[in-house]
Amino acid sequence: MHNANVSKCANPECKQEFKQLGKGKVFVRPVPKNSAGLTQKTLWLCPACAKIYDLRYDRHKQEFTLVHLRRTA
Ligand SMILES: [Zn+2]
Repeated sequence: MHNANVSKCANPECKQEFKQLGKGKVFVRPVPKNSAGLTQKTLWLCPACAKIYDLRYDRHKQEFTLVHLRRTA
């Protein structure tokens, strides 16, 4: 079970490491209580990925999924 600590970009294909707050986008969501107690899920998208992707919370899977942003040129 992972902790809420963010270590890298939420995009599995991106290897950007989380270095400082204020860059990119941070997503925080409380996770329903289970045997481990109430916890939070924190994910981070690096600035490059935040321009292309967004994160949506999937209630069924109970996890964030990466969604491609539509281009609005
Ligand atoms: Zn990234």
